[in-house]
Amino acid sequence: MTRKPLIAGNWKMNNTISEGVVLTQEISNRFEKEWAEDVDVCICPPFTDIKPAKTVLDTDRCKVAVGGQNVYFQPKGAYTGEISVAMLKECGCSYCIVGHSERRTLFGETNEDVNLKAKALIEGKISPIVCVGESLEVRDDGAYIDYVCRQVEAAFAGIEAADAVTCVVAYEPIWAIGTGRTATPEQAEEVCAAVRATLGRLYGADVAEKMRVLYGGSMNEGNAELLLAQPNIDGGLIGGAALKAASFIAIIEAAV
Ligand code: PEP
Repeated sequence: MTRKPLIAGNWKMNNTISEGVVLTQEISNRFEKEWAEDVDVCICPPFTDIKPAKTVLDTDRCKVAVGGQNVYFQPKGAYTGEISVAMLKECGCSYCIVGHSERRTLFGETNEDVNLKAKALIEGKISPIVCVGESLEVRDDGAYIDYVCRQVEAAFAGIEAADAVTCVVAYEPIWAIGTGRTATPEQAEEVCAAVRATLGRLYGADVAEKMRVLYGGSMNEGNAELLLAQPNIDGGLIGGAALKAASFIAIIEAAV
């Protein structure tokens, strides 16, 4: 089964509206229309930049999607500082990252939160990009496959196969995020294959074969091709390299 790759850029807390518009314009200018047949591309700017970025992309008829970096699971109410699924939807989001390791480690997000957020996004017809990944300590202990697969099981608890198939999983070893220390293609493939096997146990092989599993962690124009050539790696979640149009475009080219 050939899965259409997804290249998603996570801008994190970078770029004001005016900076984000410039970066989006650069990406849009370099994005070749025919690539949209072979690869899905998404940028996940900070909340304030989503709508302006979407306006640039729509004006250019550019088939790059926008996504959120986080969401709250409640539909509305007294949740100061939070953003709902409907708010993301109205900004034009097709995707939303949940459970990024920075949310888990810096903001205390739990597996249960990730599950609630994924369910709320599914309900709102936005595809969750569910992030999982082990710390260096867990990797060095040797039980990293179990650890990551348990994160996957927890994130998908109570989610039906018909909805799971709309979700994306991003394997992002914490030791590779923003460190310049990329997992080797073999290391990344080993865990992405285990993630797919877990999805297969939960939903059956047919569904697991349709679901996209991304790798994230210091992916750049130099290492993308080999990582993306692995059979169970269906794209990338890109941090630092998504902040430079030339690098992001080179990664997209590696996926086409
Ligand atoms: C990320 O934060 O999702 C990420 C993969 O970052 P970087 O590419 O900078 O390691």
